Amino acid sequence: MHELSVMAYLLETVEERAQKIGATKVTAINLVIGERTSIVDDSLLYYFDMLTPGTVAEGAQLAVRRTTMRFHCVGCDADYHPSGFDFKCPHCHTVGAVTSDGSELLIESLEIET
Ligand SMILES: [Zn+2]
Repeated sequence: MHELSVMAYLLETVEERAQKIGATKVTAINLVIGERTSIVDDSLLYYFDMLTPGTVAEGAQLAVRRTTMRFHCVGCDADYHPSGFDFKCPHCHTVGAVTSDGSELLIESLEIET
């Protein structure tokens, strides 16, 4: 899978940010990952442990918040989570508009020591 390159990219961003805000140590990294990115938490953690020694993020807590794919049905004026590959509104069975595609991959926040 592509978790290794994802983690390498995330850590690069973390180091850049840490440097910018004058952090000597990053104690926690809070990530937001969409459910449709197919990224596996265990693999991320594995590469995190592999790549962080010697960096500012060594020993940091890695927290992952998952976001789900969301649709908005105009007819019902309601948001819903599609289940599986059935993207239809559970109430009226028309296909709504995508409001969040569940492919987010970003660093929500860092906890640091200066
Ligand atoms: Zn509907």
